[in-house]
Amino acid sequence: MPGPILRIAVPSPLDRTFDYFPPPDCDLATLHPGARVRVPFGRRQTVGFLIEIGADSELDPGMLRPALAVLDREPIVPADVLALIQWAWRYYHHPPGEAFATALPVLLRQGEPANIPQPPPIWRITTAGLAALAESIALRRAPVQRRLLDHLAQCSAGLDAETLRPLVRDSVATLRALCAKGWVESSTADAPIPTVTVPPVPLAPPAPSAAQADAVAAVSAELDRFQVFLLEGVTGSGKTEVYLRLIEAVLARGRQVLLLAPEIGLTPQLLARLRERLPGPLAVLHSGLSDRERLNAWLLARDGTAKVVVGTRSAVFAPLEAPGLVIVDEEHDLSYKQQDGFRYHARDLAVIRGQQLGIPVVLGSATPALESIQNARAGRYRLLQLPERVGGGAEPPILILDVRRQPMTEGLSQPLLERMRAHLDRNEQVLLFLNRRGFAPILLCHECGWLSQCRHCDARMTLHLRQRRLTCHHCGDSRPVDALCPLCGSVDLRAVGHGTERLETALRPLFPGIGIARLDRDSTRRRGSLETLLADIHSGDRRILIGTQMLAKGHHFPDVTLVGIVDADQGLYGVDFRSSERMAQLILQVAGRAGRAEKPGTVIIQTHHPDHPLLRVLVLEGYPAFAAAALTERQAALLPPFAHQALLRAEAVAAERATAFLNAARALAEPIAEGLELLGPAPAPMERRAGRYRAHLLIQATQRQALHRFLNRWIALLWAERQDRQVRWSLDVDPMELY
Ligand code: ADP
Ligand code: ZN
Ligand code: ZN
Repeated sequence: MPGPILRIAVPSPLDRTFDYFPPPDCDLATLHPGARVRVPFGRRQTVGFLIEIGADSELDPGMLRPALAVLDREPIVPADVLALIQWAWRYYHHPPGEAFATALPVLLRQGEPANIPQPPPIWRITTAGLAALAESIALRRAPVQRRLLDHLAQCSAGLDAETLRPLVRDSVATLRALCAKGWVESSTADAPIPTVTVPPVPLAPPAPSAAQADAVAAVSAELDRFQVFLLEGVTGSGKTEVYLRLIEAVLARGRQVLLLAPEIGLTPQLLARLRERLPGPLAVLHSGLSDRERLNAWLLARDGTAKVVVGTRSAVFAPLEAPGLVIVDEEHDLSYKQQDGFRYHARDLAVIRGQQLGIPVVLGSATPALESIQNARAGRYRLLQLPERVGGGAEPPILILDVRRQPMTEGLSQPLLERMRAHLDRNEQVLLFLNRRGFAPILLCHECGWLSQCRHCDARMTLHLRQRRLTCHHCGDSRPVDALCPLCGSVDLRAVGHGTERLETALRPLFPGIGIARLDRDSTRRRGSLETLLADIHSGDRRILIGTQMLAKGHHFPDVTLVGIVDADQGLYGVDFRSSERMAQLILQVAGRAGRAEKPGTVIIQTHHPDHPLLRVLVLEGYPAFAAAALTERQAALLPPFAHQALLRAEAVAAERATAFLNAARALAEPIAEGLELLGPAPAPMERRAGRYRAHLLIQATQRQALHRFLNRWIALLWAERQDRQVRWSLDVDPMELY
């Protein structure tokens, strides 16, 4: 068999790499793994990534085709990122081509040249601009322009539009307007580095508390080797400040830092804080970027221009020229786990990456995942605690409010309403948390019992009264709301249950004259609407805040002194064994939005289950005690983190087909599943979704290695068997949701 052979990850749903001959004119001496290669694939051409150069192929040479061209003289994907992606596709048993597709910017996969981007223009204030600023009348009606000019006036070196964005939402448009007036000018010529952020007034760091100093010292002592630290501290205990100090220490050694944040937690507040403290250029990677912006940020990280790389889940794959530290903020957050396609967990991969690179990893949270706490107990992670809020402000007391037999006004009990009134009378703010958007989750016919069932899912369609539509939150199907019952023609259709929109409607007449801000996916869909709402909240124009989990993360509302959890019962008896952990994390996260040292807050939880043991432990003794109790339960039930799981999901238009596939998969598993537990097949908790029936088979093992040895063999068997094309299946290793 004539070698050499290129093994290439090609975008395809198949669980393997593909072999090609090198292109005719290729100099193998200059070819390295990580380079992009254009290859024929079926009848089309595509771009793949070179994984390795092999000596031979298992395939008949007559079957092999030559690759068409090598696109990069230097490998575009650095060796360590390549190693991480390979580790991940093997661990998650996912097709390599799709793993690459998820891990890398789309433009790279399309064969885009990987050039360092042109630096963006740098803007400076002109003499005319300075004059306009001095003569206040000119800008009286343009506060936004004034703010920008003011900022530029303090920074004679000039700034780029991206840096100004935390200050002014549409900084480019504003700069153009100012340019038209001759008050600012732009240049690109002498800007050496793109997105340089030189803070006009660098902020001096506060003196660290003893606990902060200990945490910083502990990590700083280990900067040259792999060690995972779990930094546990309530909201406001100064975790971000610890990150900032560690970043400063790592930058001072000429290394880069990768900071991961949950999608929803990557707020302007966090970015502004990084920018005002850290002199180095920052690259930001999140889902809101254009393909071009994403590629630029990726390249700035790779060539070391960006000293700090901040991003959401997929940023764990960001290339770094000189990696020195990985930080995962809110490490318990569910958004780190991708829930479709390549189902990797970015926190877990961050740990693997730290291990591969030999650098420390810091996982921070007020409410660490039980998995992480168990890892700390077992000595794999080192626990660092920040026990108190800085500034000495007490944590808000949490009260359980028993609402059984209480008269309720639109989901709110009298005691909660009275408390709200008292706080609002003192000119303070109130936050109500309800994790359900829309007006009501169900529309019901009082005459015949008809329910607003979704045609495609085992779920009800949510009533959105303002849009006058029924919408399914699971498949997205939507239709105008019925005027009459579709079954019996009655007009007596009633909204059952409460969503944020209904809460808002109900509160207006109860608190006339008080501004209400509703923050959920519906109210913030329009660009800029979230910023407007947040500005109104911070100015005190709106003093009742209603929101879903969008409100729970990242933001801080210092004037909120009362937090109401409208309905804690949803989380107490969920179908998933992780429900109570989620509930506890969410409650504390919402509670953490409130108060400051001189204005401590109160948290009230409405529930029909005031004696729920885990809820009581949480409220009376705090999260560490809750976590200990929950871990005891998990251990007794042999559930994660005391067992390791993989979930084989299947779905099909016909329910029997999904089940037949899983039964066949189980039959293949049984002979090789010694010491493992096979549970199912069972229907998914929501059996029908978007018109397809879903079922799953759960595999559980007490030893992670045994599970993966089994999966290696089993998945190969599954691929080898003739497949039912009507069935879609996927494997979820370490599933976070059993849906
Ligand atoms: P966390 O990330 O744990 O919520 P932060 O780091 O955001 O906590 O700190 C909360 C607030 O306290 C911030 O406004 C921060 O600037 C301030 N802060 C943090 N550490 C100190 C300190 N040592 N001295 C004074 N203020 C501090
Ligand atoms: Zn009816
Ligand atoms: Zn639906």
